[in-house]
Amino acid sequence: RAAQYARLRDLPAVTDDHVAIKLMMNAGLLLDMSHLRDSGADGVGLYRTELPFMARSALPDVAAQTLLYRKILDQAEGKPVTFRALDVGGDKILPYWNPYEEDNPALGWRSIRITLDRPAVLRHQLRALLRAAKGRELRVMFPMIAEVAELVQARHILNLEIERERALGHDLPAGLKVGTMLEVPALAFQLDALLPLVDFVSIGSNDMTQFLYAVDRGNPRIAERYDPLAPGMLTFIRHVAGKCEAAGVPLSVCGEMAGRPLEAMALIACGVRMLSVAAPSIGPVKTMIRTLRVAPVKAYLDSLLQAPDRSLRDKLRSFAIDHGV
Ligand code: PEP
Ligand code: MG
Repeated sequence: RAAQYARLRDLPAVTDDHVAIKLMMNAGLLLDMSHLRDSGADGVGLYRTELPFMARSALPDVAAQTLLYRKILDQAEGKPVTFRALDVGGDKILPYWNPYEEDNPALGWRSIRITLDRPAVLRHQLRALLRAAKGRELRVMFPMIAEVAELVQARHILNLEIERERALGHDLPAGLKVGTMLEVPALAFQLDALLPLVDFVSIGSNDMTQFLYAVDRGNPRIAERYDPLAPGMLTFIRHVAGKCEAAGVPLSVCGEMAGRPLEAMALIACGVRMLSVAAPSIGPVKTMIRTLRVAPVKAYLDSLLQAPDRSLRDKLRSFAIDHGV
């Protein structure tokens, strides 16, 4: 198996009917970056920046963050890296942060809600990213955006940091791409206002499934209800993919769903053309892609989206087996 995936590394992620898929890698540690080359991923579609914050006893300062982000970009050897701004709270608690007791942490003071309320933390992180990426392209993505106003506010903070760097006479990144995670359902109802403001969108299917179905992503008692292959979820993703394509805004899916071949097949059937997955999933997902024909799976999925089933998993699995995927 491992040897088979190594051979796959240099083959493109193109379907049997010639649809090109961008296959990106998720990362969260400097160590993960070594997998960029050996997996053959096209870049890092999601770099979760919170892990070093969680592993230390205090917030890392600008200099420490700059050093880390520069190393990450150096190891990417020119492939794109999308840095996600700090996404703590909810299930990711900082040991030195004194969080408020909350009845519903997943719905609470977390992620962009924290960093917009404590903008110094975000400003320091963005400053470090701008410095680390000087002369190169910087890609930044904001998490847990629920409304366009939050994206505008986060973008404004980034602009303040760019102005600050300029005023200090520091070199800036050679290019800047700013995107948003789409992991709160309400934002999908503001796409007409949102899409002109962003360079890319990435669906966080972990939180999106949780919020779309009001099902805790970590609660085993209701795990059966937490299924991204539910017809409502796939209808939702197909809608978002259509809107992004019409607006010319690149869309990816970066939740765990994208890393499972059956789910990845469904995402491609929904119109998604970029997936960001954990490094060990690159081989299995690419194998699936190279045997897939998009037109039949799309037609089949379209016929199922109004099905009364809780999950389309069994039907999609049968389809995959029958079609040699
Ligand atoms: C997601 O919610 O799908 C996601 C990618 O973010 P995280 O799992 O880090 O919350
Ligand atoms: Mg999330």
